[in-house]
Formats: sequence, structure tokens, C-alpha cells
Amino acid sequence: MIPFQAPVDEIYRSFALFAGDLPDWDAEFSAEIAGHFAAFAEGVLAPLNTPGDRQGCRLDAGRVKMPDGFAAAYVELAESGWQGLTAPEAFGGQALDHLTAAAVSEIFSGANHSLQMVTGLVPGAISTLLAHGTPAQQEAYIPRLTSGEWLSTMCLTEAGAGSDLSTIRCRAVATATGWAITGQKIFISGGDQDMSEGILHLVLARTGTAEEGVRGLSLFLCRSDTGTGRNAITVTRIEEKLGLHASPTCQVEFDGAEAELIGTEGRGLAAMFTMMNHARLDVALQGVAHATRAHAIASAYAGERRQGRLPDGSPAVLADHPDVQRMLEEQRISAQVSRAMVHIALGELERGDRPALIEFLTPLCKLYATEAGIRAADLGIQVLGGYGYLEEYGLAQVWRDARITAIYEGANGIHALTLATRGLKLEGGAAIGQFAALVTTLSDGSVDPTDWMAQATALAAKADVRAVAHAFAQETAALLAAAIGHRLAA
Ligand SMILES: Cc1cc2nc3c(=O)[nH]c(=O)nc-3n(C[C@H](O)[C@H](O)[C@H](O)COP(=O)(O)OP(=O)(O)OC[C@H]3O[C@@H](n4cnc5c(N)ncnc54)[C@H](O)[C@@H]3O)c2cc1C
Repeated sequence: MIPFQAPVDEIYRSFALFAGDLPDWDAEFSAEIAGHFAAFAEGVLAPLNTPGDRQGCRLDAGRVKMPDGFAAAYVELAESGWQGLTAPEAFGGQALDHLTAAAVSEIFSGANHSLQMVTGLVPGAISTLLAHGTPAQQEAYIPRLTSGEWLSTMCLTEAGAGSDLSTIRCRAVATATGWAITGQKIFISGGDQDMSEGILHLVLARTGTAEEGVRGLSLFLCRSDTGTGRNAITVTRIEEKLGLHASPTCQVEFDGAEAELIGTEGRGLAAMFTMMNHARLDVALQGVAHATRAHAIASAYAGERRQGRLPDGSPAVLADHPDVQRMLEEQRISAQVSRAMVHIALGELERGDRPALIEFLTPLCKLYATEAGIRAADLGIQVLGGYGYLEEYGLAQVWRDARITAIYEGANGIHALTLATRGLKLEGGAAIGQFAALVTTLSDGSVDPTDWMAQATALAAKADVRAVAHAFAQETAALLAAAIGHRLAA
């Protein structure tokens, strides 16, 4: 097995090139923090990745057991303050910026995607509490999430409601003291685990009629323990799946579970979007992490494995062969370009003065970076040949773990639709001009977005763009990738 090495230098080089001007940001301090996390990831998280994949999670008397070593690693993670990295200091957090958090998140996913899945929803939950919670809710829950005492989940999916959340049937009814939730959620990451003392479930449930669709949905905070005992929440099964074996994907039954409304009744989906938008860039970073790890394994292997001969007859290693070089180069570039895309979006998020552009870039990053991760893992397997197909070098696991990233947090086809519909109409089409300006600036005018702008403007006026959404998303990503490529080469 080729040991995991956190790509700290690559990440900070990319921030410098692509995150743009951030006057208050101290890159050196941020890199120092990421360096500490890198040591933890290399020494503690990464060594658990393969054993965790082999052992998997199990359901024992209604409670989820994580693989050996995960609980101890989580205690170390929480005690070192990593769960509260971006939370406000008033709630026990460190109030750090999105860039530092992204560096940590990418390193975490590269070292151990399964564990990152279970711990990584906390920053989104904190943002949701800050944006929509009452002061009492913020005080009650953010410190517990920040300290690591509790973890959080995101409960949207149901058997009949996947991409289309308008068909959610899980119901919440008002009680004398709050709300009670009844119904079944499926595929809930970290629906239970034996690492944190408690779990704060963020649950999307119906308060209105079925006919109201998404307008009848509200968001709820549902604690695993009520304070006097276990809440009426039961994990009834964990799924057998292709990858992420150390991340429990749970079917959860809510049986009149006590809950609190967060935000406005009937505006649950809008509130949940605070969490989902955060999670989407995080999933994009999972794609970057997989592309980077796949390239690291493949290039190390290709540099040592002796096969074939050079034209002069002397012995060659795989990396000497142009066809292998082509695959390694595609991996390297896709990791760099997808990282750059996310860093551009994060820079915009930090500055906050072009919200339409952030909303446009988020689905683009999600679909481009996750496809890059899967493709790079696939190429890595090809570079290693038969050894790539075995579990021995870890590439098979990278591919299996990466595959879900194109499906969850909104399947990529849905993100392409979002880009071609809402993305082009936000603020009267503001993102079209802003995206074109971004392409021009990044490429010093050498990539011309004129044709793309005409196409985007025509699409924005169309009633039905479903048949062309995929092609448009691919072309949009290719344009941005070309501009990024120009800056990387400059
Ligand atoms: C490992 C794992 C972890 C997960 N974690 C969570 C979690 O923590 N919380 C949670 O709530 N959910 C979670 N999910 C669920 C995940 O978000 C859903 O699987 C995803 O949203 C897709 O829903 P679906 O599986 O029902 O597929 P479907 O909605 O049935 O879609 C199947 C395919 O059809 C396409 N499609 C569907 N509708 C349309 C349309 N209108 N137009 C064009 N194409 C369409 C999709 O793009 C997709 O390719 C997880 C799933 C897995 C496997």
C-alpha cells in the first residue's frame, strides 16, 4: 500500500492562484493549521481507511457499531477542536474561514472518506442553526456540535422521494410541547454510530398537505436523546453497498419522535438548502481528494513497476510508456482543475459580493469534480493493470468510494438541470455575465466566452431545457477548465 500523503502544498498553491484577493486572509497561518491536520490524517485517519473498508459497520441490537479504531480517532478529532473549525468563537468554535476548512476537508476525504462522511455534516448543521435557528436553539446545540459531543445528520431521502423531495411523506404534527415526527427516512449517513454521545438529526418533514409539494415541508431538529431517554428514532437496517463500507447508510424510523421546528413552517426546503449548499462543495472536494489520491498511487506505482523496454532496448518502468504518461497526466490535470474550480467558488463565498455566481458555480463544481474523481480512479486502475483491479494497492477502494459522489447530494443530472435553469435566471441572469467575466480574467482574455454567453442567454429564455442540460453543463465546465488551464500554465 502506498501511504497517504496530504497534498498541503498543492492546495495552498491552488488557493494562491484561484481564490482571488482576500485581504484579511492569512495564507501562512491557514497552511500551518492544515499542516497539523495533515499530520493527524496521515498518522491516524488514513491507516484506518483500508481496515475500515474491510470490516465495515454493523447493526447490533438496533445500534450501529463503527469499525475498530474509528471511535478513538473521532475522540482525538473532536478533542483537537477540528469539529468547530468554522463555528463562531462565542459557541466554542475557532471562527476560521471557508478556505482553511476546505483544505482540512479535502485532506480528510483523501485519508478516509467514510469517516469524513459521518463527521463532515457538522459545519453545514451549524450554518443552518446560525441562519435559521432561534438564539435558544443556537445556544443549546452549536456548542455540542462544536465540541464533538454530538454529530449531525441530514434526513431528506425516503423510498418514494429521492431527487424529487416534493413527494416526502414523513409527517410532523404539533404537540403540546413541540412537534412529533412519524415516518421512514432511508440512506441516512451516520443515522447512528458509536462515536459521539448524541446526534442532532436535521429532518425534512411534511407539515402541510401532500398537494402542497415542497411548500408543505418544514425543517426539524430531532435529538437522538431527549434528555430523559432515547428519542423514538430507530435504525432498522444499514445498507450493503459498493463502497464507503465504514460509513453507515441507515434506514431510520421516526415513531412520534420529539422534534423542534427550525425556521419557518412550510419553508423547510429553503432552510435545508443552507446545509445542502455547504455539503455540495464538500462533495466536490471529495472528488478532488479521490482524483489526487488516485494519481498519487498510480504515479508512485508507475515509477517503480518494470515492464517492457525503451526504444533503445533498455528496461523500462510503466511511467516511461507514453500511453501510461497520458493517463497519469489526465489524472494530474483533472485533480488540479477540479480543485481550482472549488477554490474559485470558495473565494467567491468568502467575498460574498457575487451570490448569483456562487449559486452558479456550486452545481458546476459538484458535477465536474466528482466526475473527475471517478475518472481519475478509473484511470488509476488502468495504470496499475491487474494490480489496480485488486484491493492490494487501494485503488479499487478509491474507485468504489468515489462512485457515490456523482449520485448523492443531488445526482449530477439534477445539478446539470439546476445549472441550465435556475443558474441562468438568478438575479435576472447575472451569473451569465459574471461567469463570462471570470473566464476572461482567468485566461487573460485568451479563452473567449462570447459563444457560450449567446448559448446561455438563449437557454435562459427557453421553457424546456431538459434535453440539452447535460451538454450545456459539460460545455460550461470545459470553458472554465480551459481558463483554469491557461492560468495554471502561465
Ligand atoms: C451512500 C449514500 C449516502 C447517502 N446519504 C444521504 C444522507 O445522509 N441523507 C439523505 O437524505 N440522503 C442520502 N442519500 C441519498 C441520496 O441523496 C439519493 O440517493 C440521491 O438524492 C438520489 O436519489 P435516488 O437514489 O432516489 O435516485 P432517483 O431520484 O431515483 O434518480 C435516479 C437517476 O435518475 C435521474 N433523475 C431523477 N429524476 C430526474 C429528473 N427529474 N430529470 C432528470 N433526471 C432525473 C437522477 O439524476 C439519477 O441519475 C445517500 C445515498 C447513498 C447511496
